[in-house]
Amino acid sequence: VINFAAGPAALPENVLLTAQSELYNWRGSGMSVMEMSHRGKEFLSIIQKAESDLRHLLEIPPDYSVLFLQGGATTQFAALPLNLCNPEDPVDYVVTGSWGDKAFKEAQKYCNPKVVWSGKAEKYTKVPSFDGFEQTPHAKYLHICANETIHGVEFKDYPVPKNPNGVLIADMSSNFCSKPVDVSKFGVIYAGAQKNVGPSGVTIVIIRKDLIGNARDVTPVMLDYKIHDENSSLYNTPPCFGIYMCGLVFDDLLAQGGLKEVEKKNQRKAKILYDAIDESRGFFRCPVEKSVRSLMNVPFTLEKSELEAEFIKEAAKEKMVQLKGHRSVGGMRASIYNAMPLAGVEKLVTFMKEFQARHA
Ligand code: PLP
Repeated sequence: VINFAAGPAALPENVLLTAQSELYNWRGSGMSVMEMSHRGKEFLSIIQKAESDLRHLLEIPPDYSVLFLQGGATTQFAALPLNLCNPEDPVDYVVTGSWGDKAFKEAQKYCNPKVVWSGKAEKYTKVPSFDGFEQTPHAKYLHICANETIHGVEFKDYPVPKNPNGVLIADMSSNFCSKPVDVSKFGVIYAGAQKNVGPSGVTIVIIRKDLIGNARDVTPVMLDYKIHDENSSLYNTPPCFGIYMCGLVFDDLLAQGGLKEVEKKNQRKAKILYDAIDESRGFFRCPVEKSVRSLMNVPFTLEKSELEAEFIKEAAKEKMVQLKGHRSVGGMRASIYNAMPLAGVEKLVTFMKEFQARHA
C-alpha cells in the first residue's frame, strides 16, 4: 500500500529490508539487535554510529549533545521546564497548533509559561511574523512547534528570542531530518522518531551543552538531561531496536546525498500535491496560508464535505491508506514524510483528478 499515515509512518523500503535481513543475526554476531546487551560492543557500535551519522546529517556543532531517550515528544513537554526553569521563571510559547498547545499546557505545571501568540482563532492556519508578537523580557526560552502535524503549518524560518540569555526551543517531531536546519539557532531541538526517522519509542534531544545540569531537585532521574548526557544515553536500558532502526534511516539519508537532497525531493512532492489542490477550482481545499504550508503533512477538505468518506474509502481500494484527517479537524490529511516516494504522491494526485471528474 501507499501509506499516508501521520505517525507511526512509512519507513524506507530498503531500510526495512536491511532490518529484515539482519533480524535474526546482526552482522555475524549470532544475535538479533533485540537480544543484545545495551552495554556490549555490538550495540555500542550501533548507537555510536547512529549519533555520528545524525551529527553529520544535521551538521550538529560540537557544543551540542545528542540524546536518545524514551517517552515520546510528550515527555519532553515536561522535561524542558524541569531542566531549564525554576517554578517562577517566565517562558514563552508560540502556539501554531495542537502540539504547541499541549506543550504549553504541560509547562504550566512546572514554570510560568505565557502564550505570546496563538493561531487558534484562525483555526491554526498561520505562523506569526517575527515582529507580530511581543516576547516576555526575561523569558528563559521561546518554544515553537516547527511543524504542526495535525494542522499542516510549518515554520520556514525561526524567531529569535528577545532575551539575550534566552534560547529557542523547537519540537521538530514531524519535520525532523526533512531538510537542513541551523542547529546553532536553537537551545534544544527534540523529536519523536516515529514520523521521519524510525519507529515509535525513541525520542531524540539535541541540546546545547551549557543548558545541561540545571534540573530541579524534583526532576525524575529519567527526565534529567545531565544523567542521560553523562551516560551517553545508556543510563538505563535504551530502546535498542528503535535506535538501531533510526541508525539505518540516518545511513540511508546520507546515502541519498544528505538533507539538502532530501529537502529537494520533499519540496517536489509537496508542490505536486498542493498544486493539485489549488488547481481544482475549489473542489479540494487546503486551509493553510500558502507561505507556511507544511512539506510533511498536507491537510485538505472537499468542497462537498459529504463526499469525504467516499474519497477515503475509494482511495483505500486503490491501496492508498490512512488518508483520514485527524479527528479534531476532519477532512483528509496526506502525510508525505521522507519515506513517501514521488510515485506515491503522483498516484494520489491522479486519483484526486479522477475523483473530481466523477463528482464535479
Ligand atoms: N509533537 C508533534 C509535532 C507531534 O506530531 C507529536 C505526535 O504526533 C507529538 C509531539 C507527540 O509525540 P509522542 O506521541 O511521541 O509523545
